[in-house]
Amino acid sequence: MTDLAHNLSALRSMLEDVAQSGILNHIDGKPVPAVSGAWFDTLSPVDDSLVARVARSDVADVDLAAQAAARAFADWRDMPATERKRILHAVADGIEARAEEIALCECWDTGQPIRYMAKAALRGAENFRFFADRAGAARDGQTLPSPSLMNITTRVPIGPVAIITPWNTPFMLSTWKIAPALAAGCTVVHKPAELSPWTARVLIDIAEKAGVPPGVWNLINGMGAEAGKALTTHPDIKAIAFVGDGATGSAIMAQGAPTLKRVHFELGGKNPIIVFDDADFERALDAAVFMIYSLNGERCTSSSRLLIQDSIADAFEARVAERARAIRVGHPLDPATEVGPLIHADHRAKVMASFDTARAEGATIAAGGARVGDVGQYVAPTLFTNARNDMTIAQDEIFGPVLTSIRFDTEDTALRLANDTVYGLTAFLWTSDVTRAMRFSDRLEAGMVWVNSANVRHLPTPFGGMKASGIGRDGGDWSFDFYMEQKHIGFATSDPKIPRLGV
Ligand code: NAD
Repeated sequence: MTDLAHNLSALRSMLEDVAQSGILNHIDGKPVPAVSGAWFDTLSPVDDSLVARVARSDVADVDLAAQAAARAFADWRDMPATERKRILHAVADGIEARAEEIALCECWDTGQPIRYMAKAALRGAENFRFFADRAGAARDGQTLPSPSLMNITTRVPIGPVAIITPWNTPFMLSTWKIAPALAAGCTVVHKPAELSPWTARVLIDIAEKAGVPPGVWNLINGMGAEAGKALTTHPDIKAIAFVGDGATGSAIMAQGAPTLKRVHFELGGKNPIIVFDDADFERALDAAVFMIYSLNGERCTSSSRLLIQDSIADAFEARVAERARAIRVGHPLDPATEVGPLIHADHRAKVMASFDTARAEGATIAAGGARVGDVGQYVAPTLFTNARNDMTIAQDEIFGPVLTSIRFDTEDTALRLANDTVYGLTAFLWTSDVTRAMRFSDRLEAGMVWVNSANVRHLPTPFGGMKASGIGRDGGDWSFDFYMEQKHIGFATSDPKIPRLGV
């Protein structure tokens, strides 16, 4: 991944292959087109060219996939955990071996810069290794003796599950959800986002070669309202792990209600980065810039609201603006690129509409605020200043490289502003006062809080949001809690009292 020319030439042969085969579903161990024969196109946001045609699934395909997952469940559940562990490590080996291919496909399909995607495959492999190593303990439980019973608990996998993923960092997110489900002993039907289906196809090829048995992991491509909806209503599917927009989460909850689906939602955010005047200015600046402009700002944990203390606000905002203007916007396969094109023309239009909203609401566009070039979905890293927290630009998730800066005077005001949002995914706090850090972080309404740090991934910790940012947690043992059922078994150790009726 040394330079743009090398990357483009490596991509060319992959594009030829995928153009020929199309992006197929994968059901019961076989690559298959949609039953109806329907296709849709996936485009690259670099230049809107065709990446490939993709199987457009409907209820018939979903039914075949769910039935395959249901048939495969008992054998996968009952396979010794050491064997599941071995297979999942083999998946990780396969991901590592194809890391370059995965990075190039992901960049071309999503517009994410290679500087971040080069590590996406390795992170995906890590997800598989982490949960593979925990497979052996997934069923462990407790012993809770009572006077007349030996009570034990154990966990059993819930059954076939649906995994529905979004278009931002699709490869990493898919592995983050699929690996724990398989390690727990569940079978999977995965539906990737229609805007970024390519790497899910590569991933299932790897899984197949690694020895994942037919039916254990199935792939369904298609539209949310068609394939996605059919999956969430299918009676064989016992739980839905969903990452995406809050409105889609609400729809999925309603769709899954008649069949009582268990749901796990990782949704949006409008995450504050709160910078006090006693913070390490330069490190806070690096973090504020990185957490909004990396990954094109298409990141659920992005720090999209800067809450900055009055006394340092002029200097801090000026430095953020200077950095934003200097960020290298360019071709995602160029290793020098820091911000690539947004996923799709519609999404670029949505992000750019926030520029008009900012003007209409009376905020200042201190950097960016325009499209870059007229080919591809590029926008300039943008900073809004003179904003208030009740403005739309401070409340709505823009999901692009757009930061809204809001000033505060006291700690109480900062806390009120930080929590004044429907979301509660992450918060980033910058201060050198440890007592304040403890007090403030305790009162923040967010599932994840980083103090004097950017978002640093640590797989044993719980990942997820409060309020409208989600339901449930991933990571560590929390993932297994979702994909498994708790079971209590009580063995009589004496003669527990049994009231006699009808004697
Ligand atoms: P989206 O909700 O539009 O789509 C996500 C997935 O849901 C896609 O696969 C889509 O086809 C499917 N879908 C759509 N309608 C459906 C329906 N009625 N039934 C079943 N499935 C349906 O989200 P997006 O635009 O792809 O992703 C961006 C969103 O994801 C942002 O809000 C972002 O914050 C969120 N996100 C959250 C996290 C997190 O961990 N909290 C991580 C990444 C992204």
